[in-house]
Amino acid sequence: MTTQPRFAHTPPPGAIGAGRRPVAVIGAGPVGLTCALDLATRGIPVVVLDDDDTVATGSRAICWAKRTLEIWDRLGVGQRMVDKGVTWNVGRVFRGDQELYRFDLLPESGHRRPAFINLQQYYVEQGLIDRAAELGDLIELRWRNTVTGLTQSADGVRLDVATPEGSYQLDADWVLAADGARSPTRTRMGLPFRGQRFEERFLIADVRMKADFPTERLFWFTPTFHAGESALLHRQADDIFRIDFQLGPEADPELERTPERVMTRVRAVVGEETPATLEWCSVYAFRCARLERFVHGRVVFVGDSAHVVSPFGARGGNGGIQDADNLCWKLALVLRGEAPESLIATYDEERGRGADENILHSSRTTNFMTPKTKAERHFRDGVLDLAAEAPFARGLLNAGRLSRPCSLAGLSLQTPDAVPQADGLRPGDVCLDAPIVDAAGRAGWLLDRLGGPFTLLVFAGTEVSGLGQVSGLAPGLRCVVVAERPLAVPGAEVLVDAGGIARLRYGAERSAAYLIRPDAHVAARFPEVDPVRVAEALARASGRAGVAVQEAA
Ligand SMILES: Cc1cc2nc3c(=O)[nH]c(=O)nc-3n(C[C@H](O)[C@H](O)[C@H](O)COP(=O)(O)OP(=O)(O)OC[C@H]3O[C@@H](n4cnc5c(N)ncnc54)[C@H](O)[C@@H]3O)c2cc1C
Repeated sequence: MTTQPRFAHTPPPGAIGAGRRPVAVIGAGPVGLTCALDLATRGIPVVVLDDDDTVATGSRAICWAKRTLEIWDRLGVGQRMVDKGVTWNVGRVFRGDQELYRFDLLPESGHRRPAFINLQQYYVEQGLIDRAAELGDLIELRWRNTVTGLTQSADGVRLDVATPEGSYQLDADWVLAADGARSPTRTRMGLPFRGQRFEERFLIADVRMKADFPTERLFWFTPTFHAGESALLHRQADDIFRIDFQLGPEADPELERTPERVMTRVRAVVGEETPATLEWCSVYAFRCARLERFVHGRVVFVGDSAHVVSPFGARGGNGGIQDADNLCWKLALVLRGEAPESLIATYDEERGRGADENILHSSRTTNFMTPKTKAERHFRDGVLDLAAEAPFARGLLNAGRLSRPCSLAGLSLQTPDAVPQADGLRPGDVCLDAPIVDAAGRAGWLLDRLGGPFTLLVFAGTEVSGLGQVSGLAPGLRCVVVAERPLAVPGAEVLVDAGGIARLRYGAERSAAYLIRPDAHVAARFPEVDPVRVAEALARASGRAGVAVQEAA
């Protein structure tokens, strides 16, 4: 078994120095830790309280999407995840022994990150904890500090915290509840968590073995090696493989998780001759559920405490990292007095859309995998019959729609598209990566220059003329010019678009300009730089022009 690290817990207040904190995060899972890193990189001190003193047990999440890696790159932790993880882009879908089709989630080159890496959740958490230590005093991790009570006032929250040495109270301007799917904070506040529970049970086994399965997502409908409806296999770091077996609704969890029974199933997949040891196993049933609202006064729910989905599609952890990415820049602006508190309401609006999208995809996948009526089964089997030959049937086949970033198009912070007829990225889309060369001739990646502060991304041709008025931009707005050759543009960083890939991906005309939010989503696009229109879009995107949040449908 992989050994769990144990972190020293912090003794209670006298020694810690109580005192009000700008932000307290409840829960040091992947989402709480990512929030802490994001706020700290924006200069906001954070205290993180966790009831345990170690990382996740079992591997839980393993598939981390390109967008998550890009967010972690911004937080200085992407590379160590990629170095430790196993990179993959390709998935294959079988029916029995017959391969129905193969898909490539990232068929084009010119991206720094792959479609996915597989990395056990305990390694992810360890990587985030190591990174937190590098940020010094800005992040204080308090292990074995259990939040037992919460009282809100108009301008803050008081937490009751229990530690092995006694209890204390902690005051914070804002509390982020990242305390997981069973969220005690949610229960404490009496908030309903509505959704759908699926009766189907799944056995999840992590097996250590030297096996030559390709580094691809392998999914079987009606596998020959297992009597259930489906099975899924993923390679992880350290020669550990994750195998999911669909067991049916009647399966007995106690019986199914006995090691002998699990290993009989595993040997049917990997063969008798491959030495294999069971690292971890569990029997799960899933639900798709969400809070109606994620923001409750000064308490904001992020990650599994706000919404849960089934693992097929890898949308739980990845969705939670997008929550952190969406919330933390807003919170930093509000805490610095640079935006009104109403900006936080747009987190509800934007991530509510993300949660609905994830729940929709996840529910559809689970329904396809577990047909409940005769008609659903006929449809499912018909799709499987046709999928090998007919491309249209592959669109109906659902073995997991894998996590993608949610578009924020049409929501309150985005300015309507000034060039709706143009192709490429539109307001609300997340920025795409592309290889670039900087002024010193160093090769790099466009996404490294976006995210962080608000940025105006301007596409120029070979001449400075026609750029528009780059010099008249709002103070504090970073300007990045992407050109076909090195140019001198005062007040801007100039990058050369190696091979024209960036221009193509952004659908940029000669002098197109994009206002990019701190979470690297496009807030507005214009045919050219117009400081007045850019300033208006910036005021809107940062909540300073007033926020008119749309009610969820
Ligand atoms: C089998 C399985 C496979 C999965 N596979 C994937 C996948 O491949 N990709 C993916 O993206 N997602 C996957 N997920 C989902 C993913 O694991 C979760 O979405 C993710 O863990 C959510 O992170 P979180 O930080 O919100 O919550 P958690 O990871 O649950 O962390 C919550 C933390 O809060 C702490 N806590 C709880 N109560 C208190 C309290 N009162 N005081 C202080 N601390 C407290 C807990 O100890 C814990 O550390 C999978 C889930 C399962 C179960």
